[in-house]
Amino acid sequence: MSVPEGGTHPSLIPPAQRTRLSQSQRLGFTQRRTIMPVALFLGLAAVYLGMVWLTLAVPTPIALLLSPLCGVAIGVLFVLAHDAAHNSLTASSWLNQLIGRLAFLPSLHSFTTWDIAHNQIHHRYNSLRGWDTVWEPMSPEDYLASGGARRALYRFYRSPLGVPFYYMMVIWAPAHCGAASYIRQRWGAMFAVDLLLVLAFLAGQVLAVTAVGAAYGHGALASLLLGLVVPFLVWNGLMSIAVFLHHTHPALRWYPDLDAWKADRGAIAGTAHVRFAGPVKALMLWIMEHNAHHAAPGVPFYNLAGMQKAMAAHEDMLSWGFTLRGFIRVCKRCKLYDYEQGRWVTFEEGRTRRPAV
Ligand SMILES: [Zn+2]
Ligand SMILES: [Zn+2]
Repeated sequence: MSVPEGGTHPSLIPPAQRTRLSQSQRLGFTQRRTIMPVALFLGLAAVYLGMVWLTLAVPTPIALLLSPLCGVAIGVLFVLAHDAAHNSLTASSWLNQLIGRLAFLPSLHSFTTWDIAHNQIHHRYNSLRGWDTVWEPMSPEDYLASGGARRALYRFYRSPLGVPFYYMMVIWAPAHCGAASYIRQRWGAMFAVDLLLVLAFLAGQVLAVTAVGAAYGHGALASLLLGLVVPFLVWNGLMSIAVFLHHTHPALRWYPDLDAWKADRGAIAGTAHVRFAGPVKALMLWIMEHNAHHAAPGVPFYNLAGMQKAMAAHEDMLSWGFTLRGFIRVCKRCKLYDYEQGRWVTFEEGRTRRPAV
């Protein structure tokens, strides 16, 4: 297994390796605005806070309907923070740092931790075995060599009902509690600062939610569930499904080493464009235009649709329209990855290919 070394920022990868668009085309898409994204952030923050307040102010049966929608609001703020962490949201770096930190708070994400996990690891070499940590598939050999509990958990995460739980358990929790080695290796003062910021927000959130809930007749437990826990779990589920779809499909490759990744231009070829209806696309701030995002992480969300379209004229990229049936089919087909043959296999196929010893 070859582990990449050297610089860490995705912009260090030569652009020609990532997209066939001309330099002027790419530069056009990286043009950033300031007033619109700042106004959007303020508006979304107000919507999120307003929705949490409303959830706590209405009778429980209605609150049960509103509470998951608070999770959707967290998700939209998260995508905005994701752009800010790429320094692509606005034309101002300090504004991006500020908005990124604030917009990450409802999803309990530390800006610095995310920067490592996403910008420096995932974006540098997505879909590369032993490097990318997001939905990395086991090989049949790895799977058969694993213990029963690990196999059971792996099977659960790769089932349609298990997909929503993966991100929180495998990415978010280990990264934020310091259990992930790729975070520990890069630990510095800003990790502590940003982690304290997240903990302070969480403490304030607990106090505010219980106080507002009490003012409208909810007990502390009900208030915490409706205003904090359910929205957080819903957001995690949406995030987990989104990142699963970004790099998992029977037609998408994962790579055994860096040479194979480079030869296939893995940033684009290891990435899917999953199409949704227009309003859903807009609600997700075009995060599923993922080939364009990996080709140039510095392109802001408001230019991604244009860039994805321009790339589609030059590149052979996987694009499919999302349906529940399509999602279930991807889950069924993409269980293990045969890195030697470069294809996804089911658990049964993996077992046949390498009988257990
Ligand atoms: Zn990605
Ligand atoms: Zn990104």
